[in-house]
Amino acid sequence: MAVVLMFGGQMPVIKVGRMAGQFAKPRSDPFEERDGVKLPSYRGDNVNGDAFDEKSRIPDPQRMNTAYSQSVATLNLLRALATGGYAAMQRVSEWNLDFTENSEQGDRYLELANRIDETLGFMAAAGLTLDHPIMKSTNFWTSHECLLLPYEQALTREDSTTGLYYDCSAHMLWVGERTRQLDGAHVEFVRGIANPLGIKASDKMDPKELVKLIEILNPQNKTGRITVITRMGSENMRVKLPHLIRAVRGAGQIVTWVSDPMHGNTIKAPCGLKTRSFDAIRAELRAFFDVHDQEGSHPGGVHLEMTGQNVTECVGGSRTVTFDDLTSRYHTHCDPRLNASQSLELSFLIAERLRRRRLLSQAQLPTSPAFRF
Ligand code: PEP
Repeated sequence: MAVVLMFGGQMPVIKVGRMAGQFAKPRSDPFEERDGVKLPSYRGDNVNGDAFDEKSRIPDPQRMNTAYSQSVATLNLLRALATGGYAAMQRVSEWNLDFTENSEQGDRYLELANRIDETLGFMAAAGLTLDHPIMKSTNFWTSHECLLLPYEQALTREDSTTGLYYDCSAHMLWVGERTRQLDGAHVEFVRGIANPLGIKASDKMDPKELVKLIEILNPQNKTGRITVITRMGSENMRVKLPHLIRAVRGAGQIVTWVSDPMHGNTIKAPCGLKTRSFDAIRAELRAFFDVHDQEGSHPGGVHLEMTGQNVTECVGGSRTVTFDDLTSRYHTHCDPRLNASQSLELSFLIAERLRRRRLLSQAQLPTSPAFRF
């Protein structure tokens, strides 16, 4: 996806995965009721089990050790893949995309990979070295919601050279829609760590509250410290996001605006499973880009829940997943994810939008709506 965005959008892409640490799950309801039986909610694998019985729902602190070991193993694998040669640009056409083979998105990817191969061939012929580390490895960062404070606190260390504290459970941590209270424990905790921070914002976020929260978390207004991740559905986005942007700009605060088109678009399918529609996700992304174009601000990134596997958890996409397909490969214990084909399709759409933005800014294209995805 990053290659599609970089090559199509012609701009650098910072890759941050919500992985190797995302085990806790924020819940709006502390209890779950089924057929008249009421039990504490499942709060993620590092707290309790998701089976609907009394024993599974008892919190077990040992689960945090398992989460830690699993995160370490994932980080080791990421490190090996990112730096061990597999991420080299020359291997772009070899990356494992077996699921997308013989599909529209797979074909588009291979076409792009061939263009990259040609570009690399030209660079080599022109004498530009392909041995530079940038061409052979990649940086990959990790992130999750700073939710389970005993876990996060246990992994926090002082950097003895600067005296700053870092939560080493991830590079970037965020406060979620349910944990961003100005006087809450989560805000108090992240205020004290020097990691880059995210703030999730739904349509319920008041512009003044956002400004206050940013002030608490970034009193020195450092560039790169705060990412505001908006997740509110396309219609709310068009109405609410302009006010958030104006308030933050009015306060002179430096933030990166990112769209999470997943969490404002969760619905219940007729079969009872939680799902998200590809069209609603795409519509929220479109609204995000439109509002930033209109406000003259920068749409800085996208936050997705996805997997490289061929799951059927979100409906829609060019290889259409229908409500009836959901039960066939619904593997998530948590939220519905985009599958490989849907993820790739979205990155092609975003890359196209980025490309058009760039051309527009160079005044090479008219601003007709026909040019918007
Ligand atoms: C999440 O990103 O996992 C999440 C629950 O997001 P939010 O806090 O925005 O609901």
